[in-house]
Amino acid sequence: MLQVTPLKIKGFELVVIGKDSSSNFHAIIAVHSTKLGPSLGGIRMWPYTSEKDALQDVLRLAEAMTKKAAISGLQMGGGKAVIIGDPGTDKTRSLLCSMGEFIDSLQGKYLAAKDSGILPEDLDIVAEKTRHVTGTTDKHGGSGDPSLATAKGILAGMQAACKFVLGTNTLKGRVVAIQGVGQVGWNLGNLLTQQGTKLFVADLQPSRVKQVQRSWKATGVPLSKIHQIQADIFAPCALGGILNADTIPHLQAKIVAGAANNQFFDEEQDPYRLMKRNILHVPDYIVNAGGLIHLYVHEILHQQRLAPWISNIERTVHQVLSASFQKQLPPLIMANQMALQRLEL
Ligand code: NAD
Repeated sequence: MLQVTPLKIKGFELVVIGKDSSSNFHAIIAVHSTKLGPSLGGIRMWPYTSEKDALQDVLRLAEAMTKKAAISGLQMGGGKAVIIGDPGTDKTRSLLCSMGEFIDSLQGKYLAAKDSGILPEDLDIVAEKTRHVTGTTDKHGGSGDPSLATAKGILAGMQAACKFVLGTNTLKGRVVAIQGVGQVGWNLGNLLTQQGTKLFVADLQPSRVKQVQRSWKATGVPLSKIHQIQADIFAPCALGGILNADTIPHLQAKIVAGAANNQFFDEEQDPYRLMKRNILHVPDYIVNAGGLIHLYVHEILHQQRLAPWISNIERTVHQVLSASFQKQLPPLIMANQMALQRLEL
């Protein structure tokens, strides 16, 4: 039977732990803010080593969703869910049904979607127990996997950053190092290949790297070396925390722009470390907003055209980079201030 335990966490509207021993289910949902609209965010499944780690991750991710919606001009709030478990071995039908019951117990305060470790087909099972789910498959009336839209947004952000740093927005002939060729990294690599970009890739799963190499001309590199590639752009598309005191001194790229949420391990110090190295960081929650926009446009506004919204990412990146240059602040700190302003209006 599902057991739901609320936690009181400062700055969050709602945080709940859900457990059901019969399905080996252990998850946390965090609703950061519903000030601008319903809280929407993906479900991440990951083999966290402790509940404490999972809680820390879900809180950071939920807050980033609030900022993402705010800076992207969406009438949405921010929330997120994490399931503790290995998506490769622990993801069962009964576990996904428990997730559906858990979401349903919140009566619409949290609207689910997919994140790392969860597929649209998994959401179809979750949706058997609750209607508060977006991004189910077409067959189930949803708008499906938002990863292509996320990749398109990153491409738009990369173009804006290239224009800002290198004087032209062309990606032809540029070198991009992608960390993580999962659903977003894969789509991004496809788009970059079409642009004539030279690619380096790394992934925890060697089979992913092999698959990529069969599909595009990409050079596979060891996991520990991908951030050290002499590239124009380093694109973190795995999990958070890759920009930290150990990795920043070894980065060789001119720009960092990728899908991974919460790329800085220490959000107070690391953005300044990167700025001191003269490497431009494009805030993750601006460039990876394409997925949220896909769900918002198709399932909340019930509209079809995404392109103007994706172009808006290019404009937002330009605005944030210009303001950060003028104020000599790291782009993430500038973006946080701009998102906060929108939340306070
Ligand atoms: P995914 O699980 O499909 O892909 C992640 C890939 O990264 C996997 O192939 C995994 O093996 C690999 N990986 C994990 N740790 C790694 C490491 N240390 N080094 C190299 N590879 C590693 O997830 P996804 O949907 O592609 O999302 C990627 C990131 O983008 C996540 O942080 C997610 O939160 C974020 N994001 C995704 C979307 C979306 O639309 N899917 C939207 C916004 C943000």
